Amino acid sequence: AKTPVTLLGLGAMGTALARTWLAAGHPLTVWNRTAARAEALAAEGAKVAESVATAVAANQLVVVVLLDDASVDEALGGVDLAGKDVVNLITSTPAQARARAEWARERGARYLDGGIMAVPPMIGVPESGGYVFYSGSRELFDEHRETLAVPTGATYVGGDAGFAALHDVALLSAMSGMFAGITHAFALIRKESIDPAAFAALLSDWLVAMAPAAHQTAEHLKSGDYTTGVASNLAMQSAGNQTLLDTAEGQDISSELLVPYYELMRRALDSAAEAADEEGTARMVDLLRR
Ligand code: NDP
Repeated sequence: AKTPVTLLGLGAMGTALARTWLAAGHPLTVWNRTAARAEALAAEGAKVAESVATAVAANQLVVVVLLDDASVDEALGGVDLAGKDVVNLITSTPAQARARAEWARERGARYLDGGIMAVPPMIGVPESGGYVFYSGSRELFDEHRETLAVPTGATYVGGDAGFAALHDVALLSAMSGMFAGITHAFALIRKESIDPAAFAALLSDWLVAMAPAAHQTAEHLKSGDYTTGVASNLAMQSAGNQTLLDTAEGQDISSELLVPYYELMRRALDSAAEAADEEGTARMVDLLRR
């Protein structure tokens, strides 16, 4: 028999998750603050609980997909969680996730935190490459691994409940920098007779080609030697970045998205010993640490 699941929260993400468990034959109990949002799922076979307490009481595995950390207190504040396996998929900070793990422990529940690396259309579509980072109770993860992997991939990143959120936010932060770069690139070509669609194809391929640079940074951070295998050292990159700034100026485009990274590069070159010229970008990672 398939593990029964209780799902709290039927927003865009909760609804997408719910459908995959129903389709895979898992008995599903759902609860949503606004009851009307559960109607479609009821027609598809979900049991709709009258209250959050009833929903939680129905099954051992309780998946939470509300809006944010504060909504967990509002919805689950007075609910008995003893003996439950709580899987919290809300986007939160690592500190919120750790506090939530402690909160669950005090209530006698096992706790797994999740960070969803997918948007709702990717849920239930294995080839989309979506997945969820999980951290916290390894026992809970191992026991429910198959059930958790029904909607999308499941990647466990450690016993510290904050690690899923940390991985999630680290990837999103890198994405934010990438989108900043994409924004600047389009601004540069915008006023010229360059087809944005043709340019987008070049841009996308270039970003994919550059992405493996992350592996070299990782090797440098692990070995402490920031020079091995560096093809584009910091001195060269800094000079190159000056050209990026000058080009923005020449095209009458604000360089506000580029300047912080350039300034950090200058600081790395100024701060380190002679070797810094030959280094890659790993020293900049150290400089960001407070
Ligand atoms: P929606 O805005 O679509 O849904 C929010 C849900 O939270 C609704 O079910 C809403 O209930 C409920 N809710 C909000 N506040 C409260 C409260 N105080 N008490 C009880 N219920 C409450 O959000 P999503 O489904 O898109 O997102 C859910 C979680 O998934 C978020 O943490 C989000 O960061 C995360 N996520 C979402 C992604 C996405 O692309 N959508 C991607 C990755 C993560 P009601 O219907 O009553 O308003």
